[in-house]
Amino acid sequence: MPSRSRLFLALSMCVATPGVAQQVHHGLDPANLDTSCAPCQEFYEYANGGWLMRTALPPQYPSYGSFVELQDRNTETLRGIVEALAKTAPAHPTTPDQKVGAFYASCMDSAAADAAGAAPLQGELDRIAAINSPAGVVSEIARLHRDGTGVAFGFAGLPDFKNSTMNIASVAQGGLGLPDRDYYFKSDSATAALRAAYVTHVSHMLQLLGDAPATADSETAYIVALETELARVSLTRVQRRDPNANYHKLSIAAADSTTPHIEWAAFLQATGAPVVPDLNVGQPGFFKGLDSLIAAAPIAGWQAYLRWHVVRNAAPWLSSAFVNEAFTFQKALSGQREQQPRWKRCVAATSGALGDPLGAAYVKQTFSPAARARGLAMVNNMIAVLDARLHTLPWMNDSTRAHALAKLRAFGKKIGYPDTWRDYSALTVDHGPIIMNVRRSDAFEAARLRSRIGKPVDRAEWRWTTPTVNASYNPTMNDITFPAGILQPPFFDPLADDAVNYGGMGAVIGHEMTHGFDDQGRQFDAAGNLRDWWTPEDASRFRARADLVAKQFDSYTVVDSNTHVNGRLTLGEDIADLGGLKIAYAAFQRSLAGKPHPQPIDGLTAEQRFFLAWAQIWRSKSTDQYLRNQVTVDPHAPARWRVMGPLSNLPEFAAAFHCKPGDVMVRADSLRAEIW
Ligand SMILES: [Zn+2]
Repeated sequence: MPSRSRLFLALSMCVATPGVAQQVHHGLDPANLDTSCAPCQEFYEYANGGWLMRTALPPQYPSYGSFVELQDRNTETLRGIVEALAKTAPAHPTTPDQKVGAFYASCMDSAAADAAGAAPLQGELDRIAAINSPAGVVSEIARLHRDGTGVAFGFAGLPDFKNSTMNIASVAQGGLGLPDRDYYFKSDSATAALRAAYVTHVSHMLQLLGDAPATADSETAYIVALETELARVSLTRVQRRDPNANYHKLSIAAADSTTPHIEWAAFLQATGAPVVPDLNVGQPGFFKGLDSLIAAAPIAGWQAYLRWHVVRNAAPWLSSAFVNEAFTFQKALSGQREQQPRWKRCVAATSGALGDPLGAAYVKQTFSPAARARGLAMVNNMIAVLDARLHTLPWMNDSTRAHALAKLRAFGKKIGYPDTWRDYSALTVDHGPIIMNVRRSDAFEAARLRSRIGKPVDRAEWRWTTPTVNASYNPTMNDITFPAGILQPPFFDPLADDAVNYGGMGAVIGHEMTHGFDDQGRQFDAAGNLRDWWTPEDASRFRARADLVAKQFDSYTVVDSNTHVNGRLTLGEDIADLGGLKIAYAAFQRSLAGKPHPQPIDGLTAEQRFFLAWAQIWRSKSTDQYLRNQVTVDPHAPARWRVMGPLSNLPEFAAAFHCKPGDVMVRADSLRAEIW
């Protein structure tokens, strides 16, 4: 995980022998620490060294730690639910619970998937084979979008950035088979090897569809060439962090003149979407490039491309030959050595297709109304603390301050589970094979997303299923969401001491709140509209502070000394970690007012336990491949740096562990960022 040189340094300083973990531990498990490490030098190893020493990366994971442990516990709960429902599922399910059971049962029926092979794709493949013009390419792209296979670009009804109460038809760059545009261009040996693995993989997949090896190879050449051209006209992930770079609301006529070979009214109609007067062409440069390719690339190239994306999308749910080939490439990409067992993949697929009924059953078992009330109280407490901080923030003038306060006070709060559950009556589920259920579910979801076009935004809608181990801030709704799945140990444990809950869940809540004020979130106002509410002086003071954070993370490496964290890509998350910890720490201190100060536990003060709680949620083991991919595609910095980065900026941390100027965990004042 750390660079080689840092790892060596860490090993030379820490000499602990592996401890034994206790079975159930509320709060911090002392066996996870390595107290032979100096907390002011290598806090990540100090906090997690015991765990790192005794934990081997399980072969079924590219990365493993607190998040995955909790996810696995949630998955076990879901397994109990789906297995019970599968036993009683009728042949023609009608209720949501019956559909959950039938979906899972059909997914577990690998014999039916093997017997069907790729036959369920034949209709699409025949249509693709019959394409004979650029217009035919566009109609097939629309048809696939209608059915839930989003090829060439992304399409959905999404909130209008500048009219946030309404959904607008939105198209966005996409259409690649590799995880990022950069994979098509980077010349380092790891990326070159991955590209070679991709070429082999695409060809093997086409051969599984019955194409002769030589044909599959020439199809693959077309596919990679087309995707490379799409990648060339795609914005980078850093460019896409600018909301204005993704917002180009055009009349249908103006959109048509940007892309002379795509008629957007016809496209909308073919997908089953309402035909509306305007749409957001997210990245016009991409769509101009795509349009030229539709006109200029050989029809055979487009046929190969569409054939590939149809099979790519379906492969995990086809016969075992396809499933295994899909995993072979996953392995090259992530370093994961073994496939997850089928039941786990099927729990995930069922949750993806029928998230709400499954989530409702999960909530019944794991999350009481009392837990929801406690979560909400913690959120309100954190909001009050940020409110107080905004009043005294020294670098902001009163006009910007008033807008910031109004925005904070307008935050929507989604805790645990939604108040109303989604309606699945239009989704048909039967005995399978599973690919048929997956495809109907994909089409059902695509229909839901496009049915929103031209309609008011449903502010009560949830982005996550309830068992999800994640949380979010949504800038266009100006709300924060904490699903029941993350309001669990080690993030939140009613039996743990407050210090640990504030350093875990408190900091996560503060993190999401801070997203409303990070480099992206700050560009949206209290109503969720993309609108500048900053004075120019305050905006430049914010940028100067943010620049310090970006430079700090740019200097961090993973795997080897050439593979850097991209501080511009991770900026929003890094600002959110820093602000979240600052606010959570202040909230924790505030909660102690008027009470006797907590006694140390296991020799650790409450303040130390707060920071250790943050560090322990980031304990993790990852493959090199996972880390290389992470720094390319993920706006979150690798786990180790989410501990070392923000804590080394916080005087509160230095005070808790008696760190001194010059220590690794104490950044010099001239480099130290303080924003919220
Ligand atoms: Zn975040």
